[in-house]
Amino acid sequence: MKLEELANPHIRQLSPYAPGRPIEEVERELGIKGAVKLASNENPLGPSPLALAAVHEAAASIHRYPDGGCFALRDRLARSLGVGTDQLVFGAGADEILELLVKTFIAPGDEAVMPWPSFAMYPIVVTGMGGTSIKVPLDASLGHDFEGLKAALTDRTKMVFVCNPNNPTGTSFGASALADFVAELPHETLLVIDEAYFEYVRREDFPESVKLIRERPATLVLRTFSKIYGLAGLRVGYGIGSPELVGLLERARHPFNVNSLAEAGACAALEDTDHVRDTRALNGQGIEYLTSELTALGFEVVPTDANFILVKMGPGFDQTLLKRGVIVRPMQGFGLSDHIRISIGRPEENEKLIKAVQEIVQGANPETGVS
Ligand SMILES: *Cc1c(COP(=O)(O)O)cnc(C)c1O
Repeated sequence: MKLEELANPHIRQLSPYAPGRPIEEVERELGIKGAVKLASNENPLGPSPLALAAVHEAAASIHRYPDGGCFALRDRLARSLGVGTDQLVFGAGADEILELLVKTFIAPGDEAVMPWPSFAMYPIVVTGMGGTSIKVPLDASLGHDFEGLKAALTDRTKMVFVCNPNNPTGTSFGASALADFVAELPHETLLVIDEAYFEYVRREDFPESVKLIRERPATLVLRTFSKIYGLAGLRVGYGIGSPELVGLLERARHPFNVNSLAEAGACAALEDTDHVRDTRALNGQGIEYLTSELTALGFEVVPTDANFILVKMGPGFDQTLLKRGVIVRPMQGFGLSDHIRISIGRPEENEKLIKAVQEIVQGANPETGVS
């Protein structure tokens, strides 16, 4: 018997998550230097220097198990969010919180409704637990189709995901759209509001989802230290929910899921408000620059509220850019084969991308840059 046949049927249906490619791997493969990675929505300024210093200091104690309760981080975050310490659950990235949620609530036969395209991990975790992922297409402007999401609810719906701003489109929705949706969502349906890009948001009417938790206990808001805080490699994210919901997730959580370096780094990153402010400012400028340059070159750019842009460039454009040392994210896996997702970089990285696009448009040779 083949090993494959021994695996659970719902696991056999899955394909592994396809991450953005590391710079070193691309440089080795193409024999080039100075490649830039604009593919994984990482902070182009790097981590906060305060976080780095805290990680160095914490490194001396890594022979100890971490604080399984994340006491320091929990206390600090609860105060700044205005919630109880029993309303936070921490994980090795928000990804782990997604898995905890699904492990806690989804059984074979249960359905989870999600917008699509959206974050690739939703169907992976749902299907991986034997649940059924119900994908509801985005609307014509690539935002959430709340009517469609409502229409997809059945008596088997356990969970609904919304992603605000949505990855990979960058589109966001406001407070009134969420309030209207919630008004028609059964109280016992779990609502997962993924706000991985919360700190980048620019729209003024962004929902105050943390307040919603008080009115609607079956709600979990997801945030992460991987994006604006620049700690993607440390793996730490969290969920904000009612004490009842968080208590259930705590039962399913492994005791030392957040490592001690991650907790120390996250605490320090929260204190570094300058780093967050500078990152936001750089991101805003990058969005303006890339949008105006790409639009001038004739490409359609989806308006974004995050730290990346979705651009319609035609199939295979990611490969053409890769040959010129610019790593972006292809979108064919999401049914958007004409689009690529570009993370906003530092000014010189954004300029490298624009220069590469200009050369491609002019039909220049990738080695010489001459047409
Ligand atoms: C990056 C991301 C996450 C989680 O990232 P972690 O690194 O696991 O914290 C969750 N949701 C969305 C939409 C993301 O883009």
